[in-house]
Amino acid sequence: MRCIEMQSIGRAAVTERPVPVREPGWALVDVLACGLCGTDRHILRGEYPSRMPLVLGHEFGGRVREADPDSRWRAGDLVTIDPNIACGSCDHCRAGRVALCPDRYALGVDIDGGLSEVVAVPETQLYAASGIDPLHLAFIEPLACCLRGMDLAGLQGGESVAVIGGGVMGQLVVQLAALAGASRVTLITRQASRRSLAETLGATDSAAPDAADRDLGRTYDVVFECAGVLDTVAQALRLARRGGSVILLGIPPEGATLPVSPFALVVDELRLQGSFLNPLTQERAAAVVRDGALNLDALISRRLTLDEVAEVLASDPGEGDIKYVVEPTGRPAVPSIP
Ligand SMILES: [Zn+2]
Ligand SMILES: [Zn+2]
Repeated sequence: MRCIEMQSIGRAAVTERPVPVREPGWALVDVLACGLCGTDRHILRGEYPSRMPLVLGHEFGGRVREADPDSRWRAGDLVTIDPNIACGSCDHCRAGRVALCPDRYALGVDIDGGLSEVVAVPETQLYAASGIDPLHLAFIEPLACCLRGMDLAGLQGGESVAVIGGGVMGQLVVQLAALAGASRVTLITRQASRRSLAETLGATDSAAPDAADRDLGRTYDVVFECAGVLDTVAQALRLARRGGSVILLGIPPEGATLPVSPFALVVDELRLQGSFLNPLTQERAAAVVRDGALNLDALISRRLTLDEVAEVLASDPGEGDIKYVVEPTGRPAVPSIP
């Protein structure tokens, strides 16, 4: 089988490997779609701890090729995969906080992932994806992370919401906030094309960052930070109204710090809340995608074959691009009729 193997820092290439031998409790999956994400670039640059050699890719789904005969899975089942594998027995896991498990590891980060024709996956990580467009399987993991952020925000309808960052997370949160009944959804990002895209997806308005500081003021009940940049975290705190919440979904650089006024947090009753990974939200994300409530096609900037991945990962994403989706097993010559 062919896969994208990271052999050393900065070096990833198409590699031929034997199809993995299935272990008990694991399934083999033929990968139909795998999203590329900023984390893949961080791993490749050595900015995120990982094992090597490693098959990259943690946002993927496909068809079961082989599973335990006594499991609920059968060859041909369409599945989405939660790439984050928690121990299941520590205090955090037993309280449902699986993202905080100290022994958590991930497909595509610590063990071989989905940028491959075939991937071995623990059956505990599989979720049914029947009825979902195979290309949309690449969105379920990032969407599951966004659902975690939505859970923490606790929107009840009618709130004013600002979303900072116009990448895939920002564009998904814009859509989820609109679906949750927010009265106003403002996307804040530098790129004009991303702002106009968001306005077609449910944002009521949008602004460049400097215009946001000048014109918007402290008016938002909830601000989602989806860029993972210190400047935008600081901006999120400037946009939240008194009594408002700031939900951090973007991952800022490790070790970076920011001056925050604890006085303002207290007297303004501001809530600053981190949101990490997709704890037990994968199934709901699959349901949201299956329902067709989100426009995901508008977020697909390019469809790639495995042969194109190394070059794309080595360079920065194109201006205005949102999501690259890799189809490791290729595209069917004739579209399948559902
Ligand atoms: Zn990712
Ligand atoms: Zn655990």
